[in-house]
Amino acid sequence: MPPSSEQHQEPVPTRASGPSRRVFLAGSAAAVGAVGGGLTAPAMAAFGGGPLDEGEDWPEGPGVANTLQAPDAELRAILAEVDEGNVRAIVETLVSFGTRHTLSSQDDPKRGIGAARDWIYSELRRYAARSQGRMTVEKQSYVQQPASRIPVPTTITNVLATLKGSEGSKRTYVVSGHYDSRVTDVMNSTADAPGADDDASGVAAVLELARVLATHPIEATIVFAAVAGEEQGLYGSTHMAQLFQDAGADVQGMFTDDIVGSSTADDGTRDANSVRLFAEGVPTDETPAEANVRRSVGGENDSPARQLARFVTEVADNDQTGMRVRVIYRRDRYLRGGDQIPFLERGYPAARFTEPNEDFAHQHQDVRVENGKQIGDLPQFCDFAYIARVARVNGAALWSLANGPGTPKNVGIVTSNLTNDTELTWDANPEADLARYEVVWRPTLQDDWTNVIDAGTATRKVINLSKDNVFFGVRAVDRSGHRSPVAFPVPKS
Ligand SMILES: [Zn+2]
Repeated sequence: MPPSSEQHQEPVPTRASGPSRRVFLAGSAAAVGAVGGGLTAPAMAAFGGGPLDEGEDWPEGPGVANTLQAPDAELRAILAEVDEGNVRAIVETLVSFGTRHTLSSQDDPKRGIGAARDWIYSELRRYAARSQGRMTVEKQSYVQQPASRIPVPTTITNVLATLKGSEGSKRTYVVSGHYDSRVTDVMNSTADAPGADDDASGVAAVLELARVLATHPIEATIVFAAVAGEEQGLYGSTHMAQLFQDAGADVQGMFTDDIVGSSTADDGTRDANSVRLFAEGVPTDETPAEANVRRSVGGENDSPARQLARFVTEVADNDQTGMRVRVIYRRDRYLRGGDQIPFLERGYPAARFTEPNEDFAHQHQDVRVENGKQIGDLPQFCDFAYIARVARVNGAALWSLANGPGTPKNVGIVTSNLTNDTELTWDANPEADLARYEVVWRPTLQDDWTNVIDAGTATRKVINLSKDNVFFGVRAVDRSGHRSPVAFPVPKS
């Protein structure tokens, strides 16, 4: 257990709240026993079995228990504005364009991806009109020359709403859904491709958040993106990520919402109160030199994407969103990919939200009835209240990121001499309302930060705990108590 939780004046939710790890581990041990045909304790001991102990919490050390960051009054108001009826209207309107296939008509006003593009643009312009000039809307287009799943030169258009932050920095957070759709044959651009779950649901979450946040001033910039070309090969998101890189944007977090429309699996299992967040471990853009460091001293569970995912669980897994955020330690599902990947390829922290249980009869399928069963990605299979809750999870994460400090930069762990303590250094954060820094640490077998040490306003901290035995990180805190994601240090002499 964290050693100093009694220092808190009142109970706060901590990483240790809920069923204890001891209970969880005891449950696992019981399950093992059951699978083994109800082994007796002596029988388990005979081949090294028996209850697991808590040795993985070793060592004890300094600091108070890490806590969740509860939504403040403004964020609670924002989450309450997210409206299920709007989400439903957006999904149903997108479905009404018949198909949104990337190779479908660009200039038919009623049917095809062009009609969908123009409707999304007009919706975002409507929201921007209420932003007092903070939100601008653009069509980000380019011509994709023939390539995989693109037989002829094809205009691909992302529709972006940029909500400018007040701090005037290049610090940016991005949230996307893809508005293109497909059926069984990925090259079929004429059949009805409703794409309600994949991915009108994600676009609906993005648009509804753009509408709500347009009226709330924020410190860093948020970009709300509806991208095209995803089903043909992540073309739109690749173009967008490259333009951010070319512009020198400081993208400190990116989420894609892709297949967030249903809470019911193919076997009828329903889980309406959780969402998966896929977050990679070893960074997609890791260099050979970085891989050598990782092989030497660890860090495969401390990528920027993992720190971003941990941040989401701290700010968005609560009663105000009504959701559990189930972080999955992988980049994406088997056989699948998404619009987070082009951002990961360019070194931007990124992760993917997806519903907890998928029904593959409702994705990438020709709309048809087979043996009396309706197949296809139709709005009748969507749970609009669920999509609204996913939007709230995204809203809590984005608002907390954009109103908190940026992730500390150039964080190093000094390794010039062999010592049994730890010296961390980092660059000063630029935010005007910065209050202090916190060093966080955890035993290496823990998956989330357990302990917090106040580091004040300095950019260096020495801690009497061996860097060889635990993992350390650094985060920034502003005067309102909003935190940044954690930065994981690199060795520095
Ligand atoms: Zn998709």
